[in-house]
Order: sequence, then C-alpha cells, then structure tokens
Amino acid sequence: MSAVRMDGKALAEKLRAVVAEDVRAFGGPVCLATILVGDDPASHVYVGKKHEASHEAGIESRDHRFPSDTPETDILDLIAELNADESVDGILVQLPLPEHMNEPSVTRAVDPDKDVDGFHPINAGRLFLGEPLLVPATPLGVMAMLAEYGIEPKGAEAVVIGRSEIVGKPMSMLLLAEHATVTICHSRTADLGAHARRADILVAAVGRPGLVTPDMVKPGATVIDVGVNRTDKGLVGDVDPAVFEVAGHMTPVPGGVGPMTIAMLLRNTLTAAQHRSELRGTGVAAPGR
Ligand code: NAP
Repeated sequence: MSAVRMDGKALAEKLRAVVAEDVRAFGGPVCLATILVGDDPASHVYVGKKHEASHEAGIESRDHRFPSDTPETDILDLIAELNADESVDGILVQLPLPEHMNEPSVTRAVDPDKDVDGFHPINAGRLFLGEPLLVPATPLGVMAMLAEYGIEPKGAEAVVIGRSEIVGKPMSMLLLAEHATVTICHSRTADLGAHARRADILVAAVGRPGLVTPDMVKPGATVIDVGVNRTDKGLVGDVDPAVFEVAGHMTPVPGGVGPMTIAMLLRNTLTAAQHRSELRGTGVAAPGR
C-alpha cells in the first residue's frame, strides 16, 4: 500500500489565505524587509517568491539587494536602520551570504522582535525554554503539516536526521514541546538505520539525495522529507521515493515541506507585527504611521 501524500502546496495555499484574513483583522500595516547580497540565482528566486507571497497576503515588503562585494558594515548599517524603523515589522537576511561575511554576526544584528527567520539566539532561547515567539519557518511548517494530517506527536517516537540551527534543532524542540520522544541524528550517528527504523515520525533534513531508504523506515511511519537537492533528475529530497511504499504518510519533493516555509514566514511576519503592537502598549499603529 502506498503512503498518503502530504500535500504541502495545497495546505500552504490554505494557510496563506488564513494569514491574509488575519492581516486584514490586524487592521494596521504589516511590513517585511528582505536583504539579499550577491547573485545566487536560487536566492533571487526565493526572495522574489517571498515578496510575491507577502503582497498576496496584504503584507508590504521592501526589497534590499546588494552586489556580492558589498562590505559587511554596509549590511550591518542597513540592519540597524531597519531595526530602528517603526514601520518595519520583520527583517529577513537571505542566506547564504558571501564568503567574506560572518553569517552569525549579520543574522544576530537583527532585532529579535523583528527576526522573522527565528535565527537569533533570543528566539532560539525562547523556543528552548518552551516560550516560542518567532520560530524558524521550515520546522514550523512541518508541525502544521502533521497537525493537518492528524499525526499526533504526543507519545510518538520522533527521529530527526540533521541538527542544523535552521531545521534539525528547532524541529526537535517543536516535537519535544508536543510531547514526542525525540532522537536527533547527525553525520556522526552510528547506525542511522537502527534509529530511523524506530521512528513513528521520521524527519530527514540533511541535503543528501536518497539517504533514507525503504529498509530504514518502519511500516506505516510518517516520513517528512525536508531535503532539497538539485540533481540531474531535477529537484529531489533526502528520502528515496520508494519509501512511499512503506510509509503511512509522506511528503513529496517538490510540493511537500518547501511551500510551507513561505506560508510560515508570512505567519511569522504577522506574529512579529502583533507582538510589537502589544509591546507598544495599545493601538496597532506605531507613532508616525
Ligand atoms: P545543514 O546545515 O547542511 O545540516 C545538515 C545536517 O545533516 C547536519 O546536521 C549534518 O550533520 C547532517 N548530516 C550530513 N550527512 C549526514 C549523514 N550521512 N547522516 C546523518 N546526518 C547527516 O543543512 P540544513 O540547512 O539543515 O538543510 C538540510 C536540507 O534541508 C537541505 O537539503 C536544505 O536544502 C533543505 N532545506 C529545505 C528547506 C525547505 O524549505 N524545504 C528549508 C531549509 C533547508 P553534522 O551536524 O554532524 O554535520
């Protein structure tokens, strides 16, 4: 029997419409600023999509693009300006940055209350402490997919392959917060298959095509493929498509987790606007808006 295909494209569309409604209900302007340095074609496509999606949801957006030889100080100056700008609710620095820049110092310069990527240590700490505010969009999207398909993390064995700050670690924290028993695997894990086979919920976030094979999956398990790998055969995930024959539920690549990321970025931008509005005390509009 073939696994239920978890349709991230359809769910993302639905969630984007909900965000658009919530933006209208918020009543004031919501604004996302993006910063892109360099000429990586994929990054330009991603940022373009983020602006398009913002526009559709009624979120204003500002697009800051720079050549790859821009000094880091110019980017830090812009971030300081956007941090101080009351009309900006969310700031997103598109990764990767050029080699001469120090990614953590740039992403950590963003005001944690405007950090819609959830990469700032304050937001990582909030998640760790069980008081999440702005959580990285990709794992947030995975949790939304589990909820949509009625997959209950509570009491489940969850195995996350990958321990990055962007996906693996926050993914593990979110599953733990929902009372799963979580195992985190990585490149030094001995016998990955033995861990993976225990999983009721298996999340692969590695960046290796076909790393997860059918023999590594418990029959009926939910398999979430976060991997995005560009190959000669086009875009593929970390999970061998043959796993569809073993799993109970599974995300395709493309059309699974990918589209959810932008939907959750929009949600985070609205969350940042709402939080900032609460911090200001009363009304929605900032002084001078
Ligand atoms: P990353 O920072 O490169 O982390 C990869 C993780 O995989 C690391 O923790 C690494 O372990 C682990 N790993 C590498 N080889 C392994 C192996 N053979 N067995 C077990 N673990 C192994 O990547 P990332 O940013 O988390 O992204 C992971 C994948 O998700 C990529 O394909 C990326 O393109 C994709 N992604 C997709 C979305 C989306 O919207 N769909 C968003 C973000 C990322 P060590 O820590 O030991 O090195």
